[in-house]
Amino acid sequence: MVATIKLNDQTSIPQLGFGTYLVPPEETADIVGQALQVGYRHIDTAQMYGNEEGVGQAIARSQIPREDLYVTSKLSTGNHRPDDVRRSFDETLAKLGLEQLDLFLIHWPLPTLYDGDYVSTWKAVTGLVADGRLRTAGVSNFEPAHLDRIISETGLAPAVNQIEAHPYFANNTAREASRRHGVAVEAWGPLGQGAALQDEEIAKIAAAHGKSVSQIILRWHIQRGDIVFPKTMRRERMTENFQLFDFSLTPEQVQAIDALDRGEEGRVGPHPDTFAYLPD
Ligand code: NDP
Repeated sequence: MVATIKLNDQTSIPQLGFGTYLVPPEETADIVGQALQVGYRHIDTAQMYGNEEGVGQAIARSQIPREDLYVTSKLSTGNHRPDDVRRSFDETLAKLGLEQLDLFLIHWPLPTLYDGDYVSTWKAVTGLVADGRLRTAGVSNFEPAHLDRIISETGLAPAVNQIEAHPYFANNTAREASRRHGVAVEAWGPLGQGAALQDEEIAKIAAAHGKSVSQIILRWHIQRGDIVFPKTMRRERMTENFQLFDFSLTPEQVQAIDALDRGEEGRVGPHPDTFAYLPD
């Protein structure tokens, strides 16, 4: 049974989902279909992944009732102008085959682009909630200063902040800033995009529980209270990563994994202050 987390807009989100970054578009309907068969009901996609149509096909084929599914997408870095937010959000809904999306995130703040104006982008995303086509508005890769600014200039706090976090990069600064504002944290790259899977300390904890290293890392995130959606192309790993709610780490084991944090050196993705990629 997957736990749920209550968000600051009073909606609930499954704490465990399935990630789709680097799932090739032509394989997405099949891969996400398998994840739904395994039992995942929360899917994380993005305009920039190019695979929203495949997610939509998997949802349609599954015949799972809409209210049992939780679907997230994210605004492409190329669509930050308010008119582009609204236009591209309509495209996202059409590709996913949904009338309403559960969660839509500003994928990156891009403080060096669009004259540093991510506030009007945030206002446009919150406007989608007011229209009824979106249930919950959130952000991704927002550093403490970015969060402070959108909240102080609009009075509207995002429900979630999706940020890189894993044993080698705990990202506690952005996590704590999010929590201070009542913003739930989603940990992207929960396995360090694979980097943390060879860790010897975690392997010892895994042996003690008779679990895999991946399960131990994901359980650590769950016990920190974060939301995770590991990605895998392999069905046996989908099943493995889904089994996180039948065991617990001891406080000492949690602390041992906390101690693996390498700070900025552990980061595997770009820094949000300087990331400035725009699609063609
Ligand atoms: P993850 O930390 O989920 O790691 C994925 C890697 O781990 C893949 O190489 C996968 O290989 C491997 N893996 C998964 N499960 C296992 C297992 N049980 N045993 C061994 N290897 C395993 O990285 P992601 O970057 O995919 O992050 C998760 C999700 O977060 C993304 O899919 C996406 O939805 C989101 N994300 C958001 C970002 C943002 O900017 N907001 C940035 C990056 C990700 P294989 O597929 O071969 O099994």
